[in-house]
Amino acid sequence: MSPKQIIIVSNDTDISQLAYRLLEGGEHKLYRAESCDLARNIIQEERIDVILLGFPSSNQCLPHLDYLLESGIDPAVIALLDLDDHERYLMCHKEGALDCLTAPLTVERLLKSIERCVAIKSLEREKRDFVSMLSHDLKNPLTAAIGSIDLVREKRLGPLNPEQQDYLTSAIESCNEVVSMIDNLLDIHRFEGGKLVFNKSPLNLVELTRYVLHSFRGIIKQVQINLTTRLDDNIPELLIDRSRFSRVIANLVANAVKFTPDGGDIVVSCGYGVSETSKMSVVLQVKDSGSGISPVDLPLIFDRFVQASKQGGRGSGGSGLGLAFCKMTVEAHCGTIKANSQKGEGSEFTITLPIPEE
Ligand code: ADP
Repeated sequence: MSPKQIIIVSNDTDISQLAYRLLEGGEHKLYRAESCDLARNIIQEERIDVILLGFPSSNQCLPHLDYLLESGIDPAVIALLDLDDHERYLMCHKEGALDCLTAPLTVERLLKSIERCVAIKSLEREKRDFVSMLSHDLKNPLTAAIGSIDLVREKRLGPLNPEQQDYLTSAIESCNEVVSMIDNLLDIHRFEGGKLVFNKSPLNLVELTRYVLHSFRGIIKQVQINLTTRLDDNIPELLIDRSRFSRVIANLVANAVKFTPDGGDIVVSCGYGVSETSKMSVVLQVKDSGSGISPVDLPLIFDRFVQASKQGGRGSGGSGLGLAFCKMTVEAHCGTIKANSQKGEGSEFTITLPIPEE
């Protein structure tokens, strides 16, 4: 391992003093700061690779490191605990520490942990870069393909019969499905890397729902699904990231279409409601009469890459990322998303977005 820039951040816990003594005079460049706030400038200016965080008795320190993600610096964080306390150990991991070290601390243990955490960070970075490169390299040609197919479908290059037009519409819908999967994947990775920025502006969710549903009219007609809408135009505008929320609605409607047999029913509603904490809210619901989800799968479906037990027909395919993206986005808008379903009796997905009080 090449020499790294390491900072020890502590308000003088025994173990952090020991860590300093053990590393002093070694191959790594060492810095020291008494608090996270004092460490901030050094971390940014010196492009620190590893933070050794002497975790104080109050648990105030790790969350202060959030700004690192915002600033694009991504050092490995190793917590140094004076006491071998299971609760604090778990908390350090939850807050992003890759390792937690307690006494007795030796130079070998410390160096091994630093090497391991630097390697993990570098792998994480490579994974992120790979995903975003792959996604862009897949997405750009697909977008070009959609443009070309659309040109033909719109009869700009000559007449088409209705059957040809239907095939081209299906081709575009399939491409759009893949583009949406790539976007979900990209956003989830951005979110994990702390780099996802939601562009929120005042927006009426009913208008957005109508707009999204419009793009499903082709497939809904093709599979003869009965779509009912209950949309209350009087709801207030909320601060919403239009592009991401339209993907949330599209993911839910696409699933409803995918898991509902030909001739089935889908009801999309959007209007006033109350949240679990009795706050006035805007509630969006997508309900279908499709295959439903078993009680075993139901608690897992919002996790990444989870797909419920084998589904046939139009239910096959997918990436298992759509609902994870929905949950992430809805929660970033201070809302909740819940699924209700019985195997064989359809599913109901409900998004609740509290209306701000003033
Ligand atoms: P996918 O790309 O597989 O649809 P999602 O994250 O959107 O990924 O959904 C995860 C899983 O949840 C699906 O694979 C499916 O098993 C289940 N699911 C989601 N929506 C429905 C629905 N409306 N009806 C039945 N099962 C559903």
